[in-house]
Amino acid sequence: MKVLVPVKRVIDYNVKVRVKADKSGVELANVKMSMNPFDEISVEEAIRLKEAGKVDEIVAVSVGPQQCQETIRTALAMGADRGIHVLHDGDTEPLAVAKMLKALVDKEAPGLVIVGKQAIDDDCNQTGQMLSALLGWSQGTFASKLEVEGDAIHVTREVDGGLQTVQLKMPAVVTSDLRLNEPRYASLPNIMKAKKKPIDQVAPGDLGVDPAPRLETLKVEEPATRDAGQMVEDVAALVEKLRNEAKVI
Ligand code: AMP
Repeated sequence: MKVLVPVKRVIDYNVKVRVKADKSGVELANVKMSMNPFDEISVEEAIRLKEAGKVDEIVAVSVGPQQCQETIRTALAMGADRGIHVLHDGDTEPLAVAKMLKALVDKEAPGLVIVGKQAIDDDCNQTGQMLSALLGWSQGTFASKLEVEGDAIHVTREVDGGLQTVQLKMPAVVTSDLRLNEPRYASLPNIMKAKKKPIDQVAPGDLGVDPAPRLETLKVEEPATRDAGQMVEDVAALVEKLRNEAKVI
């Protein structure tokens, strides 16, 4: 079985995001970029399935500017077999990405697509669900455990109040949640080997998709700063403040 893993290039999760002075977006110049953390988890899961003999090829896909090749190389160094880069300068919205992924799924015919549950830059949490709808495939979202058995996959999902296990018939779309696994670091020999693995480059037009944004960003603002907390002497002083200052009791 082949697995397709979309990997998005996003601002590194350790970076303190700064809003541009004109409020049109966030500052990307000279900012460290990395693979979306949920996509690292998806790549790791695909590799584990391959190591368990359930998968024979892992294809990493990224949509975005030329530098997305680095993101794909990271996936290849972790253990993916080859990459596909959809070259697009400019914002990528979930619907356009889902349509491009659908076109690639039609061409590559994977048995499973493991998408991140959300990208940490736009926090949309939409692409996997949209892809499954476009394909008419089953979906198992927010996965914390995957078990492949024949042409079925058992997905344990993190839902409000607990865990739910669903059985999907493959081909299927799964979105990975934080507790699915802990991604490995690429070893130096694997980083060297990854340089030789192939990455195909295509344009959105080759996939029949118009990537023009459908959403207009009106304004991006920093969240309001919170006032500093206050220390109180005792419970009586706390109750007094809650009653007379905060007026919440
Ligand atoms: P989102 O719906 O934007 O929160 O993204 C959810 C997931 O969709 C990400 O974790 C990726 O797996 C995938 N995805 C979104 N945008 C891209 C992109 N430009 N390139 C590759 N994968 C993407």
